[in-house]
Amino acid sequence: MKIQEADAKSLLVAQGLPVPGWEVARTPAEARAAAERIFATGADSVVIKALVLVGGRGKAGGVKLAADADHAERTAELILDMDIKGITVRKVLVAAAADIIKEYYLAAVLDRDSRRILLMGSSEGGVEIEHVAATNPDAIVTLHAHPYLGLLDHQARSFAFRMGLGEHWREAAAIAKGLVATMRANDADLVEINPLGIVRERGADGTTVDRLVCLDAKITLDDSALVRHPGHEALRDLDEDDPTDRQARGADISFIKLDGTIGCMVNGAGLAMTTMDLVKRAGGEPANFLDIGGGARADKVATAMRLILSDPKVSAILVNIFGGITRGDEVARGLIEARRVQARDVPMVVRIVGTNADEAGRLLEEANFETAGTLDEAAEKAVAASRRGAA
Ligand code: GDP
Ligand code: MN
Repeated sequence: MKIQEADAKSLLVAQGLPVPGWEVARTPAEARAAAERIFATGADSVVIKALVLVGGRGKAGGVKLAADADHAERTAELILDMDIKGITVRKVLVAAAADIIKEYYLAAVLDRDSRRILLMGSSEGGVEIEHVAATNPDAIVTLHAHPYLGLLDHQARSFAFRMGLGEHWREAAAIAKGLVATMRANDADLVEINPLGIVRERGADGTTVDRLVCLDAKITLDDSALVRHPGHEALRDLDEDDPTDRQARGADISFIKLDGTIGCMVNGAGLAMTTMDLVKRAGGEPANFLDIGGGARADKVATAMRLILSDPKVSAILVNIFGGITRGDEVARGLIEARRVQARDVPMVVRIVGTNADEAGRLLEEANFETAGTLDEAAEKAVAASRRGAA
């Protein structure tokens, strides 16, 4: 689950990281009021940023500076309702504009291969890290945190120097440790600060001080760990929640949309992955990952079918059920009922083995479903049916 910059910044602040203050506004008037409060603290200008769950808002025109309250209101008006990569902007973040001396990149990611948290840093901040990786990979430094102890002091120090933050090493080391702490405290998959900026702050007496602060924040939380953090559900952005994802969550179905044409309905995550592999081996592309879970009853099967068919690219469906707690006849009844009520009919190949498979087979045959005995056969039939539909 991706969370908005404002919420990500709150999680950083909770771990003691330096983040300049901000407000969230949903209307130009609210943005103006926030800007007035910020100007009252002595800021020369404010930054207004679109709160949408996509990267590259700056390039898309979703990050702008404003020099007074009028300008802030007009700028918010411009950004609100803007379309950024297909998402309508519903709210903006308003903060005192930072006087940025230099931008760095710093992120903690879950490295699945080593099963550790990997820190990635670069002195080429502000731009997309994929771009740096492609054009100047040497500019990226990496380090694995200790699996049990987090980022150790000496690791954090050496990392700060390798990033070229020697002058700010104390702050940089504390921020690096804070990122890893944020990952661990929230079960995040990604905590990304881009830019991490050296900003110049002016005191009332005209003296300046350069500080290292988190100017942007992107956090992705591990969906499977949300149960461990009851407060995190409130961070889900309902403005951007996909209706299909919401239905799947409500029905307790694991569903991930993919780009192919063969819809898959399977029970068990491992079997669902295997089914997708075999679809690919048979020359097809899966349209989704879908695990209806154990003990799925007829109504859940119907919901799963609706989720799959909501994707217009789906031209065939492969149902692969291993009956254990899940009873095959119950799934067959669900399929028959779902097909009866659905608006769009696509070819369906069904393989049901295990508990009550015979009864399931009889029901499906009576209802003229195409069935298969083995998974390979089912995958081949589904791919062939999809091609017939496309032709
Ligand atoms: P993103 O494009 O979605 O990653 O949004 P960011 O918050 O990272 O902003 C994009 C760019 O806008 C940053 O890399 C900065 O160059 C610039 N920017 C963001 N906030 C400020 C600010 O407070 N002051 C100034 N001068 N520039 C900013
Ligand atoms: Mn950014």
